[in-house]
Amino acid sequence: MRLLEERIRRDGVVKSDQVLKVDSFLNHQMDIGLFRAMARQWRQDFADAPINKVLTIEASGIGIAAVVAEEFGVPAVFAKKSESINIDGTYYATSVRSFTHQRVYSVIVSTRFLGPDDHVLVIDDFMANGCAMDGLLQICDAAGATVEGVGIAIEKGFQPGGDRLRQRGIRVDSLAIVESMDPQTGDITFRD
Ligand code: 5GP
Repeated sequence: MRLLEERIRRDGVVKSDQVLKVDSFLNHQMDIGLFRAMARQWRQDFADAPINKVLTIEASGIGIAAVVAEEFGVPAVFAKKSESINIDGTYYATSVRSFTHQRVYSVIVSTRFLGPDDHVLVIDDFMANGCAMDGLLQICDAAGATVEGVGIAIEKGFQPGGDRLRQRGIRVDSLAIVESMDPQTGDITFRD
C-alpha cells in the first residue's frame, strides 16, 4: 500500500537492522486517517470473505483493529495479557514470546467472545517472527473459529513469520512488506 510505505519512509525510524520504530503514527501516537485508509484496503482485499469478527492482541494492535472492525461493521476482540492462565474453561489461553521485550507472556480470550460461528480477520501492527500471530491462531483453533485471513500493517519480510504462515495456506495480507533496512543510512526497501 503506497500510502503506508510513503509514511514509513517519511516518519519511520530504523533503530537497528531488525527493529523499525513507527510510534509517531502507528503504535503510540496513532494517525486514525491512515488507519481508515488501511481498513478500507483490507475491506476491499477481503470482500469475498464472510468476516464477522476482528481479533488482535493487546496492546498495539487494538487501535488498528478498532478502525478495521468499524469498517467491516463487526466487533473487535483483543486477546488480553494475563498474569495467570485461568483453566476453568471460561477462557482460551496461550503463551506468546514477545519480540520487543524478549519474554514469554500469557494471553486469554473469553469463550463468550469467540466460537465456532466466527469467521475471523486477525489484525496486528507488525509481523516479525510470527509468535504473536501463532498465539492468536491457536486461540482461534481452540475456539473452533474459522480464520479468513491475517491483516498486518508492517511485515518485516526478512523475518520468517509471514512466509511461514503463507506456507501453511493462511491468507496473509500485509500492507507494507519491508525487505531490508539500514540503520546507518535509514534506507528502507519494500517488497513489490
Ligand atoms: P512477532 O511475534 O511476529 O515476532 O512480533 C510481532 C509483535 O512484536 C508485534 O505485535 C509488535 O508489537 C512487535 N514488533 C515486532 N517487530 C517490531 C518492530 O520492528 N518494531 C515495533 N515497533 N514493534 C515490533
